[in-house]
Amino acid sequence: MSSPSKLYEESGKIKISVRLGKRLENISKDALAEPEEFWAEQAKSLVWSKEWDKVLDWHPPFAKWFTGGKLNASVNCLDRHIKTDIKNKAAIIWEGENGETRTLSYFQLYKEVNKFANVLKKLNVSKGDRVTIYMPMLPELPIAMLGCARIGAVHSVVFSGFSAQALQDRINDAQSKIVITADGGVRKGKLIELKKVVDESLPFVPSVEHVIVLKRAGNDVMLGSKDHWWNELMEGAKPYCTPVQVESTHPLYILYTSGTTGKPKGVIHGTGGYLTHVYATAKWVFDFGSQDIFFCTADIGWVTGHSYIVYAPLMHGATEIMYEGAADFPKPDRYWAIVEKHGATILYTTPTALRMYMKYGDEIPNSFDLSSLRLLGTVGEPINPEVWMWYFKTIGKERCPIVDTWWQTETGGIMLSMCTGIETIPMKPGSATFPVPGVDAVVVDEKGKTVPAGTKGYIVVRRPWPGMLLTLWGDDEKYRQVYWSKFAGMYYPGDYALNDQDGYLWLLGRADDVLKVAGHRLGTMELESAFVSHKAIAEAAVAGRPDSTKGEAIIAFLVPKEGYAKSENLRKEVVAHIRSTLGSIATPDEVYFVSKLPKTRSGKIMRRLLKSIASGDKIGDVTTLEDGAAIDEVKQAYEDLKNVVES
Ligand code: ATP
Ligand code: MG
Repeated sequence: MSSPSKLYEESGKIKISVRLGKRLENISKDALAEPEEFWAEQAKSLVWSKEWDKVLDWHPPFAKWFTGGKLNASVNCLDRHIKTDIKNKAAIIWEGENGETRTLSYFQLYKEVNKFANVLKKLNVSKGDRVTIYMPMLPELPIAMLGCARIGAVHSVVFSGFSAQALQDRINDAQSKIVITADGGVRKGKLIELKKVVDESLPFVPSVEHVIVLKRAGNDVMLGSKDHWWNELMEGAKPYCTPVQVESTHPLYILYTSGTTGKPKGVIHGTGGYLTHVYATAKWVFDFGSQDIFFCTADIGWVTGHSYIVYAPLMHGATEIMYEGAADFPKPDRYWAIVEKHGATILYTTPTALRMYMKYGDEIPNSFDLSSLRLLGTVGEPINPEVWMWYFKTIGKERCPIVDTWWQTETGGIMLSMCTGIETIPMKPGSATFPVPGVDAVVVDEKGKTVPAGTKGYIVVRRPWPGMLLTLWGDDEKYRQVYWSKFAGMYYPGDYALNDQDGYLWLLGRADDVLKVAGHRLGTMELESAFVSHKAIAEAAVAGRPDSTKGEAIIAFLVPKEGYAKSENLRKEVVAHIRSTLGSIATPDEVYFVSKLPKTRSGKIMRRLLKSIASGDKIGDVTTLEDGAAIDEVKQAYEDLKNVVES
């Protein structure tokens, strides 16, 4: 590959601030010099019923933060506000897919959470018990989570798009006593029969004693012997529940990862460390002010929703928008319509949603008033520079900084991002910039040695941080093996990255998604971004196929933008474009046009499936695949082309 790569050349073009990050540099330097003091200082922003004795108890690879300290997560999100002016402020502005809206003030949310905690208590749930929550994006979902937290129960939220098998696996893994669901959910105008899915799993989940069912869809459901209506239980519930003050290291929740690279893992987060991390990062990255209206588009079924819809914004007393439905329903304009309608000031979304909107052109977003926005954010995948530019210009009108936040379910909160609450630094489209203060992340080579600027390697974290997972549920050995065995003493996230001459970090995709072509290591991200920089291409996914001469051959699956036909000409044009942007080494061996790519339900491209198809291997776990039709289409496209080539 020609070096520096295209991604790298993009750097430094956008400068919206002349400051060069001195403030950030100083804070980060001090934080890493005395990390325990630094994090203890952050932890003081929380409400503790008992202060900790020790900041960090580090028995690698197990970290315990703020040992001896006691607190309650729901007190930190709610009780702390109800004696202040925030009491009557909107906590959640909820919008249903059908346009219906509901607003809950902090006081209203507080009352509901207290009542629900009492409901759980009455059903014999106590500290440490697990509760599976399988609900649509309704305010009752955070109410259920905070209700669990109030009594020290551990929630395990399962994304409401999952099938009975996926739900059953997660209930059994966590051995949950209670399942909370709804009579139905709504997605793209269609009813999702959640209760039916629960009923299907029920015979196979013996740990479950009770099922709580919220009325949402007006769907006719049968109540069995374990079932209770949410509203009936709430009617008799007392309005106040004394919070259970738990140890700082008490598990707050279990959450399964997206399954992009394999079988999902049950990540456990503690209470004090986790809350400290998400509180601090929200302050640094989003810089919430009293006028802000925060719109995080994630589903609460994923970690972004846990950390930056439920815990961090509520601890900060922020007002946030919670949206129930699909990004493109009824039209591919829904996020813009919501920004305009509710006056969102911060939008936090994903590259996959942006690529979808971009496919339909500028006219749609241009027809909305987006002037309330002051800050844009992205998470979930590397953002292609082309998409970043579109977000910056068309959505942010070149006014709003973009925070590209890199982190994982396992990290609990943001690890790399520009921190606008500290200072806005010059941005580089596609770079997540720097580690947040107190996080010791660097790029290393195969041997674990820090690499010089411009060299690709693996991102690692050299010291524990407060949001770090406690372990994997019931599997300390797997925890050790997945995250701590590749490099001695360093946490291994499994992502490929590089550090540029200015010290900016660039995430280059999954380490196991790297292609080795004729001795060169090519990041999937760089290749895909080069495809997406062609005017006709909306989305791209590349995979490698074993090749006897080159090691690996590059196979590309491309989704053309609206108005561009899939043709032989386009294929040639795209290949020429790749050769001119990345060099001949990156020439794809096969290019397939498809209408959609196989994605996880959290919207990430599942490259491992493409790789399996291209190499003729068995396709592994697909329980988290969003749309089975996408994989059929890819298989078909592959078969068709093979036939053409062979005949
Ligand atoms: P699994 O671990 O089961 O394969 P997953 O890694 O997709 O699933 P998540 O924890 O939801 O599950 O996602 C974290 C991953 O998402 C990161 O490791 C990284 O690959 C990617 N990611 C998240 N944010 C960014 C970002 N801003 N830039 C680049 N990559 C990102
Ligand atoms: Mg992962």
